[in-house]
Amino acid sequence: RRMEHILSLIENIIRPEVRSLSAYHVADSSGFVKLDAMENPYTLPEGLKQQLAQRLADVAMNRYPVPSYAVLKQAISDKLGVPAGFPVVLGNGSDELISMISVACAKPGAKVLAPVPGFVMYAMSARFAGLEFVGVPLAADLSLDKAAMLAAIAQHSPAVVYLAYPNNPTGNLFDKDDMLEIIAAVGNSGVVVVDEAYQPFAQASFMPLLPKFDNLVVMRTVSKLGLAGIRLGYMSGSAALMGEFDKVRPPYNINVLTQAAAEFVLQHVDVLDAQAAQLREQRGKLAAALAALPGVSVFPSAANFLLVRVPNSEQAFAKLLEHKILVKNMGKMHALLENCLRITVSTPEENAALLDALSASL
Ligand code: PMP
Repeated sequence: RRMEHILSLIENIIRPEVRSLSAYHVADSSGFVKLDAMENPYTLPEGLKQQLAQRLADVAMNRYPVPSYAVLKQAISDKLGVPAGFPVVLGNGSDELISMISVACAKPGAKVLAPVPGFVMYAMSARFAGLEFVGVPLAADLSLDKAAMLAAIAQHSPAVVYLAYPNNPTGNLFDKDDMLEIIAAVGNSGVVVVDEAYQPFAQASFMPLLPKFDNLVVMRTVSKLGLAGIRLGYMSGSAALMGEFDKVRPPYNINVLTQAAAEFVLQHVDVLDAQAAQLREQRGKLAAALAALPGVSVFPSAANFLLVRVPNSEQAFAKLLEHKILVKNMGKMHALLENCLRITVSTPEENAALLDALSASL
């Protein structure tokens, strides 16, 4: 009886498009070599950890954060290359920024457009906010299908276009001139959000182009740089536009511990940069070693993960699990990713463990 009541309550109040969604699934990974979520395997050196602990001990956890976040925003601008005069909007991870963009743009009938396969939160967040999502398939070589993108933009006139640079789950950088053409084609009928979550591994960015395009937003995160656990994303763009997005931001969305930790670590950002450089070097070695395995092909990557095609991704995934190695099986996600695995680049030791287990599975 009770259950029936609850079910009818849910049917009465929850939007049908939410009811039909399945929850974002995150695998439980305790005890595994974790190569499924593009994390940085390195932590801070011991000395910095001690200093950070002291900083955090002094944080006033009884107080709300200072709502302007002026110090943190200035540190982000100075250390992470936001052009002068362009404001920073902060999110609890870039996931929250995506959600803020969706909420702010959710006029009846408005659409969000992105290439697919792409980062799944663009589509999920759009649907949460009641926006229609239009996915435009990549070309067979996983490059941007520029003609299809331009046609879809002309047809749908999207309020928001996402271009991840580099793209997840494919790892490649789209052609910069293609992207510039798309930004121009969208014009003042929509914003183009260039998502640079993997920028530390790409060393290419649209951030310096912000002064050139009123409809360009550049979004980043500290997650892949080595701070995934503190949940901090940021975006920048024209002041007027950022002002609008900031209105839908929950007032104290960045907690005092995240704020203090980020302010501290950004003073030592060279440590994280050096870790990213190490991972870029490991990426090249791992890609070469994987490509040498029978039946394995590796897609070019400018990110801290590799998309690889194996003879049977289901089987390889299961075999890796037996070896306590967790990667992401992309085989069912999209036709273009048939038999593909997405593998985070990690330490030499973890990469070697992956190579051993994968070659045993083939
Ligand atoms: N954008 C892209 C392209 C991503 O791959 C991810 C994380 N997988 C995110 C955004 C979200 O990052 P976070 O919420 O940790 O900042």
